[in-house]
Amino acid sequence: MSDGTSPSPTAIEAALLTEARAPKGARKETMDLIEKVAGGRLVRDVVFLPPNSAIDRRLRVPIAETNDGDIATIEAEIDGHMAAYKNLPHRIRLRDETGFLTVAYFRGNEEMLKRMWPVGQTRLVSGKIGMYDGMRQMLHPDHVVDPEKGEAPPAVEPVYPLTQGLFGRTLSRTILAGLDGVPEAPEWLEATTVKAHDWPDFRTALEHLHRPASPEDVLPEGPFRTRLAYDELFARQCALRLRRQHRRKEPGRAVVGDGRFAQKIIDSLPFAQTGAQLRSIKEIYADMAEPAPMLRLLQGDVGSGKTLVAALAMARAAEAGFQSAMMAPTDLLARQHGQTLAPLLEAAGIAMAVLTGRDKAKERKVILERMASGDLSVVIGTHALFQDDVAFKDLGLIVIDEQHRFGVSDRARMVAKGYSPHVLVMSATPIPRTLALSIHGDMDLSVLDEKPPGRQIIKTATMPTSRMSEVIEAIADAAKRGERAYWVCPLIEESEAVDLAAVDDRYEELKAYFGKGVEIVHGRISPTQREAAMERFRSGESFLMVATTVIEVGVNVPEATIMVIEHAERFGLAQLHQLRGRVGRGDKQGSCVLLWKPPLGVNAKERLDAVRRNDDGFAIAEIDFRLRGAGDMLGTQQSGLPPFRLVSPEAHADMLGAADKEARLAIERDPDLATSRGEAIRLVLKLFGYADAAELARSG
Ligand code: ADP
Ligand code: MG
Repeated sequence: MSDGTSPSPTAIEAALLTEARAPKGARKETMDLIEKVAGGRLVRDVVFLPPNSAIDRRLRVPIAETNDGDIATIEAEIDGHMAAYKNLPHRIRLRDETGFLTVAYFRGNEEMLKRMWPVGQTRLVSGKIGMYDGMRQMLHPDHVVDPEKGEAPPAVEPVYPLTQGLFGRTLSRTILAGLDGVPEAPEWLEATTVKAHDWPDFRTALEHLHRPASPEDVLPEGPFRTRLAYDELFARQCALRLRRQHRRKEPGRAVVGDGRFAQKIIDSLPFAQTGAQLRSIKEIYADMAEPAPMLRLLQGDVGSGKTLVAALAMARAAEAGFQSAMMAPTDLLARQHGQTLAPLLEAAGIAMAVLTGRDKAKERKVILERMASGDLSVVIGTHALFQDDVAFKDLGLIVIDEQHRFGVSDRARMVAKGYSPHVLVMSATPIPRTLALSIHGDMDLSVLDEKPPGRQIIKTATMPTSRMSEVIEAIADAAKRGERAYWVCPLIEESEAVDLAAVDDRYEELKAYFGKGVEIVHGRISPTQREAAMERFRSGESFLMVATTVIEVGVNVPEATIMVIEHAERFGLAQLHQLRGRVGRGDKQGSCVLLWKPPLGVNAKERLDAVRRNDDGFAIAEIDFRLRGAGDMLGTQQSGLPPFRLVSPEAHADMLGAADKEARLAIERDPDLATSRGEAIRLVLKLFGYADAAELARSG
């Protein structure tokens, strides 16, 4: 490939970022169909579409040795034609020394087929063997060539994901045409990286992926796809680092407090802060004191004490004369936060209110006025906080709880309500550190990895639903001691109606058994009723709460000691762990029962056992990561990043750390991407959809 001149980024950019062209004669909707499978219509989109597999057509097999379903390439003599008749296709009989094969065409002009298949001549045919009436048949062969002319079917043919109406051959030809216009690329990776793995260059890797010499060439683990996946990871990590670097230079306002409010909160606590809390608060205060806006993720398992950290951050803002807003994903959680924060903020004399979508017009008006005048220092709310008529006097800090429920655009809408406010995102979903790099890489990270002392371990058991009566008896005993229990049923969107019916049925059964004291909450129950039910549960008027996952986070009822989770096999491990964290918050021993419905697969059993045996959310996340593969975690986060094209999380997630390290070094050495390697990095950023980051580097 190389002709001695150095490869030009502009040329490759031009080749890859132009529209791909469907082959001549293709139907006019072809590019729309290709866009569906490739995620775009640029050359970049089609050449970054990896084959699922590849068909090996090199092997020539005697007819008698082929089996139903084989993709076979056969050299045989044309024996005769049988014209289409009634609903039978046009058939051509082929023979070799071992037997006969019928080639069949449902479409096609008889004269043309006779010319294409002259009796007495030899042809090489390649396609799928089927059985029809006990005879070997090949319907519409993939390839027919004349060996006398020295023709051969493609040796190894990549197979791409398709969609209704799109032919594999049309897609391949589009990809190859695009690929042939792509010149050699400058190397954006460290020479030592490429050498250490014995990787091909970018252009060669693409070439082999689409023109494989053997089926192994297209495997995710193979060197070609791996090199490209690494490029994709590297591009993402560079982009995240550049965004972070840029954010640190953005104009914002330094929030420097004198500690007078924070100290009052600390003085009011009946306990000392954990080391992790002290460390996180220090990191947050340092960020807030910078003129650039903070974007920090506070990760901490359930019960690790995030609320206090948030309260101290908001107190800091109040000391400096700024307002804070805390966003929670549901009304219920907003109110719960209000209740837990109230005593802390009151201790410091900080005025606070809760604003949700449920407030009556009159109350709402009063709160809005107090926000606008600056009378309120802290407002806790839901999506209601995004509304256009919501304004702050001077918003300096935003705290977002349970980040995965808010999209990046939600965050942006909230940020727009202040002048570059600092942002603290709190998440109780622990993710392995390497994954955090990829998903939250543009944020700084604080981790509450130490639990407050004396926190008990929740006794956890797994059992089949057939043992439910034992569980019910245990709840009855607990109720006699004044304790309370949750009974959680899954609610999966796709089967919502069935699931809700199941929750209702369970509620009716338990109510029939216990008489009174049983409540139900789920998303279809009106907020007023839900609140009333929660209140009866909190006050002890009721002792059993049947619920879907609305109680997943935030609910804090110290008397709750039993958590029953039905169909536990249908929940994610992090979710099970979070739910379990709802009990044992008081001084009494908590327990959790994971009920599963047989049959339970090996993997599902291992997953439930992981929750039973571990009480650390990070350990559970690591196990989940291993059992489920990183795919779900990488894929389902609302990261706002372009989806991976070449990275297969199962095969490539373990390269994340290395790609991130390489990105960090590259950006540290050349923050403006001013060197020739920097120019190459800018190119790889654009190719993988991070043009914004490439621009950030240019503007410095
Ligand atoms: P989460 O991180 O799940 O939001 P919370 O902030 O709700 O956790 O804290 C859980 C419980 O631990 C609360 O009752 C809180 O008062 C208590 N807590 C927080 N920090 C400490 C500490 N340093 N020592 C003892 N208890 C603490
Ligand atoms: Mg919390």
